[in-house]
Amino acid sequence: MTVLPALDDTLKLIGNTPLVLLKGPSEEAGCEIYGKCEFANPGASVKDRAALWIIRDAEERGLLKPGGTVVEGTAGNTGIGLALVANARGYKSIIVMPETQSREKMDTLRALGAELVLVPAAPYKNPGHFVHTSRRLAEETEGAVWANQFDNTANRKAHIDSTAPEIWQQMDGRIDGFTCAAGTGGTLAGVGMGLKAHDENVTIALTDPYGAALYNYYACGELKAEGSSVAEGIGQGRITANLEGAPVDTQFRISDEEGLKWVARLLREEGLCLGLSSGINVAGAIELGRKLGSKSRVATILCDTGFRYLSSLYNREWLESKGLPVFDWLR
Ligand code: PMP
Repeated sequence: MTVLPALDDTLKLIGNTPLVLLKGPSEEAGCEIYGKCEFANPGASVKDRAALWIIRDAEERGLLKPGGTVVEGTAGNTGIGLALVANARGYKSIIVMPETQSREKMDTLRALGAELVLVPAAPYKNPGHFVHTSRRLAEETEGAVWANQFDNTANRKAHIDSTAPEIWQQMDGRIDGFTCAAGTGGTLAGVGMGLKAHDENVTIALTDPYGAALYNYYACGELKAEGSSVAEGIGQGRITANLEGAPVDTQFRISDEEGLKWVARLLREEGLCLGLSSGINVAGAIELGRKLGSKSRVATILCDTGFRYLSSLYNREWLESKGLPVFDWLR
């Protein structure tokens, strides 16, 4: 039995997450599919890593001083990660989010002690958009830094430095492919770069939801979105600084129905309660495994806990209102 040693700092609880063989997906793909359990981070998502790296980077560059404030425009997981890391380091956090976001997320951010600023939903080109509002607030607030997760490459560095080497070691250097969806693109680009540094033959694939523009960008060089998705935290329409130079070899596009099918199967057959981006990632990993063949070993990201979506993904009325299939046990 391997027992983890005691840690001397709660921030060391971020990262070093388990990697697990997913039985159903492996059977379906005819090869080995592994999931990186990012829901095991203290904030229950992959974004704790980006939050820690962004705050540490701001400290090292002398931008964040004791008693300072971290400001970010985000609807969910990044805000939760930033609020927790800010608490642990003695900073305040101000999170700007569109008022259309779920009640659960607002309640969670308030519960963690973040100052919540709600703004009306607006297109990105509108100066009132939550991202621009957060930048302005950071500029106007004494001692504040703007986390800027989309274009601050400390985000993807978290995955170059931690997620990729963990996956490499956990798979004993025997990994043929990696895939995940992109929100900021930090995970895809960072894990891709980190794995390629070990072995440039590892195939890196984008798994895109509908409604995002990256599938077409990597397939034919055109940033063009088609369809839509209810998945939160993924689906990007531009090449963020974190996505620049991402070593993407191939791409898949996965529907919400297919992602939800894997959310349901992973819950009922393997006891994992996950969000929709995890289901979409697993469906993409199965596609990649099929492409790479029966001896292949493929890894993907289980991005966050399903407990964050009890009033949506795991709620009959909500699923029906979106025209999505209702899980058998919720009927
Ligand atoms: N899944 C969920 C649930 C997320 O919140 C995010 C973060 N936006 C992602 C996936 C994608 O991560 P990244 O920002 O590194 O692309």
